[in-house]
This record gives sequence, C-alpha cells and structure tokens, in this order.
Amino acid sequence: MGVDLKKIYAKVAEKKQAEKRKVFVKVSNNGAVLGINGRIEKVEGAVKNLYANQKDIIDFSKLGATDLSKYHVILIGSHDKKVPLADRLKKYIEEGGFLVTTARCLDSFIADLFPDIITYEKQQIKGGAFKGEISSLEHPLFRGATKKKAMKFWIEDNCHPIKKVKPDIDEVVSSKKLEKKYGSGAMIVALNYGAGMIVHMLPKLHPPQSNEQGHYVSAYLLSNILDEAVNKAIPDEIRMPSDMRQMAYVNMVIIDDPSKNCAFCKSTFKEYEGKVFRCGSCGEHYHEFCIEQQLARDGTCRKCGKLMIYEKFKEAINSVYEPQYFQPPAPPPEPKKEEEKEEKKEEKKVEPPPPPPG
Ligand SMILES: [Zn+2]
Ligand SMILES: [Zn+2]
Repeated sequence: MGVDLKKIYAKVAEKKQAEKRKVFVKVSNNGAVLGINGRIEKVEGAVKNLYANQKDIIDFSKLGATDLSKYHVILIGSHDKKVPLADRLKKYIEEGGFLVTTARCLDSFIADLFPDIITYEKQQIKGGAFKGEISSLEHPLFRGATKKKAMKFWIEDNCHPIKKVKPDIDEVVSSKKLEKKYGSGAMIVALNYGAGMIVHMLPKLHPPQSNEQGHYVSAYLLSNILDEAVNKAIPDEIRMPSDMRQMAYVNMVIIDDPSKNCAFCKSTFKEYEGKVFRCGSCGEHYHEFCIEQQLARDGTCRKCGKLMIYEKFKEAINSVYEPQYFQPPAPPPEPKKEEEKEEKKEEKKVEPPPPPPG
C-alpha cells in the first residue's frame, strides 16, 4: 500500500487529542480493539495505527478461543467465506459491543446473523469509484472527519449491494449512482442491535485506490466509532479520575541552565527573556510561546507524553473530582472564632491584677 497509514492515524490522534483535552482524557488510553483479518482485506494497518490501549489482531480460526467481551470495537476486513462461530459476534453485539465490517462480510456472515434487519441484493457490483453523500457532517460517526458532504469511495468488484430489511437502518453514506444501477444506494450503514451497534461499510476501510484524504476520513471514522464505543462503556466524566495519573502539572520556573533545549522548538533559553515553563512530570522546559503551541496541538508533553495542565488549575480540578490520585494540601488550621477571642479578652479584663505583695 503506497499510503502511510501510520502518518494518517497519527494526524487523527493529534486532532482527537486536542478535542479530548477539554475533558482531560488521553486518547491513547481509550479502549480495546480487536482486528480480524478477512480473506480479502487485512486490517493490521488500521488496527496497529489506531489509538487505543489494547490492539490485537487474529484470524477467524482464533474466533472461538478469543474472549470478545473485553473489546470495545471489533473490526473485520472483507471476507467472502462462511464464518464458523459467527454467532459469537452476534452475542458480542447484543451485550454492547461495536462491530465494524466491510465489503463482502455482508454476504458471508452479516446477512446470516441478522436476517430480520439487513441482507444483500443478489446482483454483484462492478467495482469502481462511487460518489458517496454523507447524511450529516454532524453524524457521530463522521463528526470532525471532513468538511465535504460528498466524496469518492471505492467499491471492489463482486460486492453485493446492501438491502435493508428493517427500514429504519441509519444510512450514514449513500450513493445516487449505486441506487440508480442496483436499486440500493446504501454505502455505509449503522444499526443498533441489543446493547451494541454494527457499522457495515460497502467500501473497504483502506482500499489501495483511495487518496490520502479518503484514508484520513476512513481513519477518522474508525476513531469516532472507537470513541462512541468507549464512551458508551465508560463516559468521559467517570473515566476521568483514573486518567489523572496521565496528567502532568506545568509550572512557570526560573531556568537554572539556559543552555538546555526547549522540548518543543529544540532551541536553547540563552538570551531569552520570556517566561519558562517546566513539565512537573519529566522536568522538560518550554518557552512560553512553545508550550502554548503544544497545548493548542494535542496538549501532551513532548517528552513524557502526559497531558499538561497548568498548576494553577490544580485546585479547580481537585475540587471537582475525588482526590484519589492527588494529595490535596492539608487544610490550614481553623482560625479561632471571634467570639472565643472576645470572651478570653474579657476574661482577662475581668481578672483583677494580683495584689502586690506586702
Ligand atoms: Zn521553545
Ligand atoms: Zn513531561
């Protein structure tokens, strides 16, 4: 594949991290993903490069021996053979899992698993580029991915058009050309099942014919699905305290050795008269302008990777969350009440001076 998926997924991660900074969640802590290689499409490229803290890849022969319940998302590449034990996937979705499948997965097992919801047209598609229209740029699966409402998607030869059995299936992307030729224009569909969700894409996730923008949108789509799945399992608000361990406070400091290098721009602090900030976790220094740049990007320290928070926000954060991971400063001793003081004064006043001896 001529395209650099690593670079593309890194770009998505950076953008996602910039969004997530607002809730102090480090995206690379997010979720567990299982990739299953299909016979036609391998998914290592996507799974390996996607941010998530657990990423595993298997082939179908391992389906029976794998504990699916620990994954937030399972991604299955295009596959054109029957899948033994596919009902395990159905149970996984029922219990809240998110399943993403592409292309031929529809006719090889999805239609068999959910005959009352989705199936396929007998006729096979002659592959090529199809312009797909995204139902809404604010759709949770596409949010942030692109500013264009329509873009080209590649569909391989021999795919079957999606046929909706249940009419209320969410058609996230559809193509007029597909509809005209094959009677069904659905390209990417999402459907709720049990406590979980299935997203089926007629195009592969990363077809070789796709341009960089196409790969980027696919990578973003997969990241959005991961976020949706993780958020459903553990909302950000609840997840936050444990992620505080991934935070580093930054402080303004006076630098002891100006020949040190800024973690951001790599230049030194010689002849620099502005403010210097220091990462409380790894001790790296930043120019003020540089730390602002980094905070505006993904907000993690260039050296240690922790989420940087200005020390001045520490108290505000502590006041909202259980100080499970911080030792809050000991409260100052309670000032004595005015009344008590007054009383004592009065007592003193009343007390007569000891009589002089003699
Ligand atoms: Zn700098
Ligand atoms: Zn650091």
